[in-house]
Amino acid sequence: MNTNSVINSKIIDGKKKSLAIREWIKVEILKLKESYNFIPGLAVIIVGDDPASHIYVKNKEKQSIEVGMNSWKYVLPANSSEKQIIYQINKLNNDSNVDGILVQLPLPKISNALERNVINAISPEKDVDGLSIVNSGKLVYGDNGLFPATPSGCIILLKHLPINLSGKKALVIGRSNLVGKPIANMLLKENCTVTVAHSKTKNLIEECKEADIIIAAIGIPNFIKGEWIKKDSIIIDVGINRIDNIDNTQKVIVGDVDYEGAINVCSAITPVPGGVGPMTIACLLLNTLKGSCIRRNIEPPVYNF
Ligand code: NAD
Repeated sequence: MNTNSVINSKIIDGKKKSLAIREWIKVEILKLKESYNFIPGLAVIIVGDDPASHIYVKNKEKQSIEVGMNSWKYVLPANSSEKQIIYQINKLNNDSNVDGILVQLPLPKISNALERNVINAISPEKDVDGLSIVNSGKLVYGDNGLFPATPSGCIILLKHLPINLSGKKALVIGRSNLVGKPIANMLLKENCTVTVAHSKTKNLIEECKEADIIIAAIGIPNFIKGEWIKKDSIIIDVGINRIDNIDNTQKVIVGDVDYEGAINVCSAITPVPGGVGPMTIACLLLNTLKGSCIRRNIEPPVYNF
């Protein structure tokens, strides 16, 4: 357990932690280059011209380059068919310089491609988003694999708190393949007693009141109220919601938890922005580094939580 400065009073600083991870990756990449003469590389495919998706991809590119990785971006037209997207994926599957392949989601509505077919076309050892059936199965089995970045980031932040996760009651709110389901499995691996709540859950407030740890991945601004939360619980807010500020003059980003209400009750909380969000790209880069080593039969460097 590590109580370093990532937690300052009650606030869990994901920005600081993600920076530390990226600094660590940078050093490990230099070591790999020196010892094995290769540089890990991440290829991102983006279909269409959705501005938000392009911003996400730009950040991924920027941070890959900053840590010393190779980075490639492939922009396909919005109306690309499933076959055309998978054709690009197969080229990258067969390119020995490419260690990680990521398709930015969601795919545009105009494309006829099914996301699950696209994701499952990526070689599992290059599936750095960890969303393929193979990697999802490995997570459920407790095997080694590449697992989704946002839930991995949540676990890293939790492991930095001065608590023993084993036996804690964890409530995951949300059951998406991207966040809710993988984090539930990761918390089971940490020996938490896990409840998964969703839109059809009855008595959500009662579930919240019993939880030692709440992971909110819902997508509804300020949904979880301070008075629902057990005293001294830990709150991990995955939500990213853009809403108007109080005088409607600009957009602000808030989480799924009413931060002002929760901070007085909980023992630790991730802010939005600056909590889970920055951890996502850092964990994506960790996956690319790990995958690059495994593919070359090199023992991957282990990040010391
Ligand atoms: P999703 O829409 O796929 O899933 C939302 C889940 O919330 C569903 O499983 C649904 O059952 C549940 N839900 C909806 N209404 C509910 C209610 N009233 N009570 C209880 N549960 C309810 O969303 P997602 O992709 O899992 O993302 C969730 C949130 O996390 C979004 O705000 C998204 O922007 C954010 N997100 C953040 C990151 C990050 O990097 N920090 C990454 C992915 C997603």
